[in-house]
Amino acid sequence: MIQLYAPLNFLGVLYREIKQGLTDLERMFGLLRANREVEDGTDAPALRVSHGPEVRFERVSFAYDSDRPILSEVDFTMRPGTITAVVGPSGAGKSTLARLLYRFYDVSGGRILVDGQDIRSVTQHSLRAAIGIVPQDTVLFNDTLGYNVAYGRPGASAAEIEDVCRSAQLHGFIARLPQGYETPVGERGLKLSGGEKQRVAIARMLLKDPAILVLDEATSALDTRNEQAIQGALRTAAAGRTTLVIAHRLSTVVDADRVLVLDHGRIAESGTHAALLEQDGVYARMWEAQAQQPEEPPALPDAEGAS
Ligand code: ATP
Repeated sequence: MIQLYAPLNFLGVLYREIKQGLTDLERMFGLLRANREVEDGTDAPALRVSHGPEVRFERVSFAYDSDRPILSEVDFTMRPGTITAVVGPSGAGKSTLARLLYRFYDVSGGRILVDGQDIRSVTQHSLRAAIGIVPQDTVLFNDTLGYNVAYGRPGASAAEIEDVCRSAQLHGFIARLPQGYETPVGERGLKLSGGEKQRVAIARMLLKDPAILVLDEATSALDTRNEQAIQGALRTAAAGRTTLVIAHRLSTVVDADRVLVLDHGRIAESGTHAALLEQDGVYARMWEAQAQQPEEPPALPDAEGAS
């Protein structure tokens, strides 16, 4: 019995971690289909999606456990091709928005619409094919850098891989490694920094070429060089897509078309960075608090100077 239970328990833990970490391992979902909490409706059609669709959260409420509401009537529209950044204190429900959009869980109230289609009415496969997720902590396989990027679209050519790595501001770094794209990474190879791993995830996502992009920013502070490289990569990646950034560090929000301030599961404020500073409310105080944090490490020469 114990022998049977142990692997099942392991699968349960693994499944929860994958959900939590928003890792983009659709193949894994295939394996774990039996564990799914959300189901396709009978004869559900595929999502029809334009490049850079409109995404609407319509009075969305959600609770993981029925006695503890996480989101209450959250209502906003991401206009086609724009960047929406969500900020707010830890535990406010920011990552939950992304989990609901990817349909790891179904909303408890309201609905989420992509180009006017309720995401519960279409196949999960077509929904997930339309969304590219750049998770907080990217899983790297014990394989080469090239393989790790190509995972975004198995079968991609070397030229395509190099192309997306340039856009993700990663090519210069890779080109300077003695083994280049053949460099082994992961547990038994080169250890990448958090910022470099996120750029691998951005490159992967670019190969997938989804209409909707979700970036769950790393919570940890990045050095200035990595921060700038991520911002540059994100601007390129977001062009022509509808983008949701779960912003943990406030640095991405300056460029966002719209910032949502989530507090206790509700939208407390929304507007551009400049308008929210002007408003002098919750956001302005968060900004001041971050400005008072200790200095970041000094900037190093631009990593992409040689690419
Ligand atoms: P952070 O900035 O720390 O990442 P967040 O705003 O992204 O926080 P969420 O991850 O969306 O917050 O979590 C919102 C709340 O939901 C938290 O209180 C968290 O403890 C709770 N929560 C998250 N995942 C689960 C889960 N699987 N089951 C129960 N509660 C959960």
